[in-house]
Amino acid sequence: MGQTAGRGRMAALAAALLLVGTGATLAQTPAKELFGAKTRPSDGAPAAIGFYSHGCLQGAMQMPADGPTWQVMKPSRNRAFAHPAMISLLQRISRDAARQANWRGLLFGDMAQPRGGPMRDGHASHQIGLDADIYLTEMPNRRLSNAERDSMPLPSLIDPKTTHLNERRWRPEIAALIKTAANEPEVERLFVHPGIKEKLCKVAGRDRAWLNKVRPMFGHDYHFHVRMKCLPGSKTCEPQESTGKGDGCDKLDWWFDVALKPPPPNAKPYKKPPPLFMTALPKACAAVLAEPDAQAPAIASATRAATPPAAAYAAPEPTAVAPAPAPAAPSGGMPMPRFRSGG
Ligand SMILES: [Zn+2]
Repeated sequence: MGQTAGRGRMAALAAALLLVGTGATLAQTPAKELFGAKTRPSDGAPAAIGFYSHGCLQGAMQMPADGPTWQVMKPSRNRAFAHPAMISLLQRISRDAARQANWRGLLFGDMAQPRGGPMRDGHASHQIGLDADIYLTEMPNRRLSNAERDSMPLPSLIDPKTTHLNERRWRPEIAALIKTAANEPEVERLFVHPGIKEKLCKVAGRDRAWLNKVRPMFGHDYHFHVRMKCLPGSKTCEPQESTGKGDGCDKLDWWFDVALKPPPPNAKPYKKPPPLFMTALPKACAAVLAEPDAQAPAIASATRAATPPAAAYAAPEPTAVAPAPAPAAPSGGMPMPRFRSGG
């Protein structure tokens, strides 16, 4: 046996071992670690793959950090990625909030990771690029620094003692904003704290159809959550069951009487659900993980009515602005939400 052949066999063996090793690692590593390690979107056509809480995102687009009617918060998390149609929807909501709901602009929170998938912390859903959080604090009239975006207090609207609304923090513009988002045909549902839903039920008046999409949920006391419908014709996206009929205003008692009550002293402590592994996600998500990074900036061509057109992935960072002290808003105090599937 010649030395070259021996070396060739060694190389092949090493490659095979590496493959086996990678396979074993993929199977044994929680999916949140695999997706959490990806810093760039995948190549490939945009696709929301799977269900909101069990899936991934191919060909994501990044929300530009600044627009005429929005700023993206929490830049250090690198979670401002979404399906391009969702980027357009969010920009449209921000524009309409400015026009119709008297908001200077919106502060966007987490969308999805560059390739979607489960996250190391924070959300059960937000996995397929069709979920986003919008803060209930108005955009300030200046561009926030990156440090401010990560640390600015975002006060809760809920009184932690009563679990009902803190009326001093209420503005009619909040109802107008949530109604604007709910009336978007592409919005599947919205999540708000039950105390906020209760207030919306009181102030809605006779036009109540939009309340059907506004669903009570743990957390969501300083932000609300926008979920977009699967795009028409998408075979990879799994729709959620219908929100049914009615405004849901008669179904809030359980929240205040049971769900939001402190647990009795003998209650079993809340146990976090076990992490998801790749086997729990659609098979296509392994391919999304393996795809090369998207190279050319993906300009959204389907950004109807978005102003300006959704800018590309890898949009230039905003030029630095002089650091200013963070506003001394009182910080709200709801406990971290107990995450539920699909929440
Ligand atoms: Zn959310």
